[in-house]
Amino acid sequence: MEKVIIIRYAEIHLKGKNRGFFERVFFVNIERALKGLRHELRRISGRYLVEGFDEERVDEVCERISRVFGVHSYSVGYQVPSEMDKMYFAAKTVCPKEGTFKVVTHRASKKYPLTSMEINAAIGGRLLSEYKNLKVDVHDPQSHVYIDVRENGSALVFCAFERGRGGMPVGTAGKGMLLLSGGIDSPVAGYMMAKRGMSVECLHFHSYPYTNDQAKEKVVDLARILSRYSQTVALRTVSVTHIQEEIHEKCAEDLMITLLRRFMYRIAERIAKKAGAECLITGESLGQVASQTIEGITSSNSVVTLPVLRPLIGFDKEEIIERSVDMGAYETSILPFEDCCTVFLPEFPATKPKLSYILQEESKLDVEALVDEALQTTERIVL
Ligand code: ATP
Ligand code: MG
Repeated sequence: MEKVIIIRYAEIHLKGKNRGFFERVFFVNIERALKGLRHELRRISGRYLVEGFDEERVDEVCERISRVFGVHSYSVGYQVPSEMDKMYFAAKTVCPKEGTFKVVTHRASKKYPLTSMEINAAIGGRLLSEYKNLKVDVHDPQSHVYIDVRENGSALVFCAFERGRGGMPVGTAGKGMLLLSGGIDSPVAGYMMAKRGMSVECLHFHSYPYTNDQAKEKVVDLARILSRYSQTVALRTVSVTHIQEEIHEKCAEDLMITLLRRFMYRIAERIAKKAGAECLITGESLGQVASQTIEGITSSNSVVTLPVLRPLIGFDKEEIIERSVDMGAYETSILPFEDCCTVFLPEFPATKPKLSYILQEESKLDVEALVDEALQTTERIVL
């Protein structure tokens, strides 16, 4: 009797002609998630089967599968020859020993000598006589015992469906450049785009030496956490120190953040295009802070042509935190290291800056030269 994991996918079946492509990417993504663990992955009629893993490490295998986008649900069960005795023994192993239950058989091969109903009755009956505290309830049972009789002479027996994360396989929806700060929001924003199948690359702006190495380490850690879901390969870092000094020296104080954001977007777009990314992704949420008003967003948007995706735009902080905890980033995000945006932070940032005012202040800077200079500081950290 071999322990196996049955994986079912989520929306992939919706994708008509592209189905083959989605399935291939999904397969590769599961393989990648299981890298380093002994296993065999196989496609079987509309599902995937993981076999040949070290049974003592089943929890680790499941944990990794649970992080793959596109997984709708998975079940740990047994693969046995489809003989009644063997299927019964597997059913006995997975079935709870008390409460109400129901056996549900599905036969892929109609050549099997018994019908599904007959298998249900025979195995259910034997379970009842084995465990005196079990009762059958066909309408609303506490547990199910599922028996999938396959065409190749084997059967899969399991009793629970674990929920996957849903979404689409990463790598099926283009590539985005995530502006990753050390905060709570941006890792969640990257997670959410990866969930819709987008490959995510990360870009972080620092103000070394105003911000320190620990702040940078924290962002590397966040990018690593994100990459468990998004397959992010690298984190790019760019220094905006000189840009901030220039804004601080030459421009109106209340526009510090507004002007810095416009520089970040410009630099991000240049890096995105070079890296083959088709959009920018940020963790902005409407109204959360002074710069995240529609006026602030309009001001940053107007310096780029790539689309800017903001998956958190309509989320409350609480909802974002929930997701941050769920993806395992929260503990790292709340470590208290300075972000570049806290350097030269104005006391009263402009919340509804007029574009004419922004342009007037910005004209005091050599924007192109500052962008080029910042790009020279780009570092690429492989995760
Ligand atoms: P976060 O929690 O992601 O830091 P926040 O609520 O602190 O967001 P802001 O600091 O206004 O909000 O940043 C808005 C967005 O701008 C961030 O979600 C991120 O996408 C981007 N951003 C801010 N600071 C940086 C940075 N240092 N490097 C890269 N991107 C940044
Ligand atoms: Mg921030």
